[in-house]
Amino acid sequence: MKAEFKNEPFTDFNDAGNNLEYDAALQRVAAELGGDYPLVIGGERIQTNRKFQSVNPAAKEQVVGIVSQADASLAEKAISTAATAFESWKLTEPGERARYLYKAAALVRRRKHEFSAWLTYEAGKTRAEADADTAEAIDFMEFYAREMQRLAEPQPLTRIDGEDNELYYIPLGVGIVIPPWNFPLAILAGMTTAALVAGNTVVLKPASTTPVIAAKFAELLREAGIPDGVVNYLPGPGGEIGDYLVDHPLTRFICFTGSRDVGLRINERAAKTAPGQKWIKRVIAEMGGKDSIVVDSDCDTDLAAEAIVASAFGFSGQKCSACSRAIVHEDVYDEVLAKVTERANKLVMGSPAAAGTNVGPVIDEKAYRSIRHYVQIGKREGRLVLGGGTGDPGGYYIEPTIFADVGPEARIAQEEIFGPVVAFMKAKSFDEALEWANNTDYGLTGAVISRNRAHLERARREFFAGNLYFNRKCTGALVGAHPFGGFNMSGTDSKAGGRDYLLLFTQAKLVSEKM
Ligand code: GLU
Repeated sequence: MKAEFKNEPFTDFNDAGNNLEYDAALQRVAAELGGDYPLVIGGERIQTNRKFQSVNPAAKEQVVGIVSQADASLAEKAISTAATAFESWKLTEPGERARYLYKAAALVRRRKHEFSAWLTYEAGKTRAEADADTAEAIDFMEFYAREMQRLAEPQPLTRIDGEDNELYYIPLGVGIVIPPWNFPLAILAGMTTAALVAGNTVVLKPASTTPVIAAKFAELLREAGIPDGVVNYLPGPGGEIGDYLVDHPLTRFICFTGSRDVGLRINERAAKTAPGQKWIKRVIAEMGGKDSIVVDSDCDTDLAAEAIVASAFGFSGQKCSACSRAIVHEDVYDEVLAKVTERANKLVMGSPAAAGTNVGPVIDEKAYRSIRHYVQIGKREGRLVLGGGTGDPGGYYIEPTIFADVGPEARIAQEEIFGPVVAFMKAKSFDEALEWANNTDYGLTGAVISRNRAHLERARREFFAGNLYFNRKCTGALVGAHPFGGFNMSGTDSKAGGRDYLLLFTQAKLVSEKM
């Protein structure tokens, strides 16, 4: 039996030696940029005529990789291959499936900075953000492997004389895994390996902006010995192959992390029974957030400022857990705003590859335009206190931006911006702050910074968020410690990195034998 699960430690980038190692990894990966990435279906590498160029968001001219794109007929091939592979994969013992994950985790750990360097090039992640992404990928595999072994233990059932009863968690079938670009390694690895360790086979459709890191991970699973056909790598245009995969009668479940619009579309399409379909499709969806940090009158204002800056501007606010609303009690409003502004002003924006950079680019042209549009809206809805501008035009840089005096119904207080933009809202009381924190369609994360025990207890009951944090930032959930997922339009509250997660990928079978 494996030792108890422990989170993978983060790399200390204040250490010069670690930075040198990261430099070396960046260089090694640089030599590989621009390579070709075929689809992989049943172990067969398939080049297509249609290609997508994945570029570095920090340097738009730099091609990270050239990726073949699937069409509907290749999507069909991927699903039927996964369906065939399921017939044998479902028979493998849970312990064996777990061992593939332990092996894959060990392989990533061995090449940790190399994976992180790919994240720096393809997703624009700073060293610390990339390192956390890679560490989380390792954590998911280590955690879900143990979880599968736990689920394989006989469950205590009520004893009936003369009967032998046992309950098994058996797999579902073919799953479509559609991960996001913002944790293109961690969440992709988590969703994919949860599905396969539970005995399912997978068609993996990577996010269109980060298909290379996905190819690297699919290749690593192969290296870990996972049989051909169990995970099929199928990049392609979402509109064209996404619907096809979701609608397919052989699709048993869809595991998605991404935008609310796409999540709802998947949910709706999956609910429709296709001719020949024998089951109700299951949808596991993690979507957006409009997350608040509530700052109470009695609090440590330095801690509040630190939490807001880390949660609003880490990875340029491109996390569904990011703080996009700072709801601050009027007694400390000016002080907290000043402290956040001062700290945010010191953040270094620039190439994510450079040591010491705090804020890199946003993911692509579309995000860049959309965030800038929200900055314009913010200028009408609030008072611009910091930022609002862009950076080196060679990349998609947007400055950390703070708007003050924003009303609770303002668009920038209600719509998910997914960029480095935070709205300050001045509340008259803790009651009002809590009311505003809950006045959104979402319910993913939130935080309260307070010394008032009664207020914390109220928030514990009334703050409607899947992941609620007290006196700390609202990003950076750790596998095992902070099972992650939210309410309402944030998704199906499928707690990734928690003990309920694998149940979503299984069905329980009871066998009762009369003795
Ligand atoms: N789990 C991440 C966190 O706690 C966020 C995941 C996401 O943005 O999808 O910050």
